[in-house]
Amino acid sequence: MADKKRYGLLEMDEETKKRLDKEIRKQPFHRPTGEELKAMLKEKRKGLPRPIDVHCHPYTKTGWKSLGRFRPHLEKYLYNKENVTAETITAEAPTDEEWVQVYRELGVATTPVGWDAETTMGLRPPYGPDELYQSNTNDYMASLRDRFPDVVIAAWGSVDPWKGKKALEEAERAIKKLKLIGLKFQQTGQAFMISDRQFYPLWDLLQEMEAPVQFHTGYTGLGGGAPGGLGVKLKYTMNVIPDFDDVAADFPKLKMILLHPAEGRDEDAVLVCRHKGNCYRELSGMWPEYMPINVPKTWYELNRRQQDKYMFGSEFNLFPLSGILYQQYQLDYREGILEKLLWKNTIRILGPELERSGVNLKEWRINLAEV
Ligand SMILES: [Zn+2]
Repeated sequence: MADKKRYGLLEMDEETKKRLDKEIRKQPFHRPTGEELKAMLKEKRKGLPRPIDVHCHPYTKTGWKSLGRFRPHLEKYLYNKENVTAETITAEAPTDEEWVQVYRELGVATTPVGWDAETTMGLRPPYGPDELYQSNTNDYMASLRDRFPDVVIAAWGSVDPWKGKKALEEAERAIKKLKLIGLKFQQTGQAFMISDRQFYPLWDLLQEMEAPVQFHTGYTGLGGGAPGGLGVKLKYTMNVIPDFDDVAADFPKLKMILLHPAEGRDEDAVLVCRHKGNCYRELSGMWPEYMPINVPKTWYELNRRQQDKYMFGSEFNLFPLSGILYQQYQLDYREGILEKLLWKNTIRILGPELERSGVNLKEWRINLAEV
């Protein structure tokens, strides 16, 4: 038998490593994970509570339409696919049950996010009109949670900031009536700046309701590589300072989660997070193996003084959940940091909001007490 080598927290021989490195990139990402990889991942978290995924999308047979015409392009950009049509995407996408089953099999709890960019992506320019577009509504997000409570422990809503008063009403309904944990915004898709004063009533309301908010940070794959980026402007997510910093300063009780590794704004994201106590981070949207090189400041801080600020997200099912975990376990984390990322920080940072959404945190609190 070939000698086993250490790769972070995993141990395997070179042949196995080569095989699994390939296996995690096989499409589509919701297909059942191979037994060998599944066993390896499960072994790593034996006796520990489930990791919590705070950022993923239900790109299901209907849910993928929230990306509208951007989705066929993403199939080429991310996966090098040709001859992609709405029909082929729908045929390949998972049902809700299949989507949830991946989490169940791997023993991961999840809190998927909604998507409402109807004005800018569905109805009007810059990206509309687009007949493919369909929002992942707050009712759909709540229904995923209610139909699959063993896996979808909570869900994040979304409102279209351009809907004005209606957006405020929907935000209130999402948090108070549907008991969603908070709201997610994707400023490139929604084509707006969070520091634009006309949207301040939204942040004011969310702060008042003590509802946390997820904001896209840094580079976006939306329209990536296409002529003109399909009209997408990076400015909406690249102004970490002053854009995010302003909102964090003006709404000190609003818990802000800066999504993704903030590629292109690595240092700014680290600085905002250090300076603003109400800012946190999540690192999906980039294969973990690239993090130490692509966002070195983030990687450095995550292992040191900002180790309590980071939460795990997968960007499933644009990325494979098993593959993301497989790579996470291989990174050279300092002792105990990965556990913080996978669930401890999430319980500390979002505990009250998860409980308010009806999540029983017993599974995680028992272990947290031992820390
Ligand atoms: Zn996302």
